[in-house]
Amino acid sequence: KDIYQHNLLNINYNGYLLKMKEYAETNDVPIMQDEGIAFLIMLLKVKRPKRILEIGSAIGFSSSVMALNSDALIDTMERDLKMISECKKNHEALGISNRIQLIEGDALETFEKVKDNKYDFIFIDAAKAQYINFFEMYKTVLTEDGIILSDNLYFHDLLFEEVNNRDLRQLVRKVGKYNDFLINHQEFETHIFKIGDGVGVSTRK
Ligand code: SAH
Ligand code: MG
Repeated sequence: KDIYQHNLLNINYNGYLLKMKEYAETNDVPIMQDEGIAFLIMLLKVKRPKRILEIGSAIGFSSSVMALNSDALIDTMERDLKMISECKKNHEALGISNRIQLIEGDALETFEKVKDNKYDFIFIDAAKAQYINFFEMYKTVLTEDGIILSDNLYFHDLLFEEVNNRDLRQLVRKVGKYNDFLINHQEFETHIFKIGDGVGVSTRK
């Protein structure tokens, strides 16, 4: 049944992407899993974006998938030095570094670098505690009919659990607050799906 379900997602990772998945698994890098990736690919096929902004590149897995499944120019932001070097290496190896620009630094501080651009697709997948700030900051560079996709909105289902660890509980609360923020937003309409770790799709009202 699992194999059948996986076949229906119809994801065809090349050998290099499979290696990246293995690396992520071994090194605990929280890349998007297959169901979320299939949803992301579907959105790209429907939307056909020209310019994509991603917040949270990690090893460049999702940005690689986006590059290989669209014609878009992609800007992706990452602050962790180890991730930055992995990401660069991977984009080069896949031969897609000409279409992806890696913007190094904290995404709360690198807005300047993209402020004159317009993106028709923005993917928020970084530190959960900052999601509201990212959304409010980067909605200003979204085209009128653009889409903002947010990941991890069910946060490993912890929203519904008793969480003992204090820091983790704070994070879970932040994700809950972000969900409320999205659902009650004045300018955007959002639908949140229990796909993968939970994805939210936001468009202007
Ligand atoms: N989108 C990736 C996974 C991203 S994991 C994929 O699916 O393949 C989240 C990443 O966001 C981590 O690498 C972390 O270092 C980065 N990150 C978290 N907060 C950030 C911030 N404020 N600015 C830039 N990068 C951030
Ligand atoms: Mg994620």
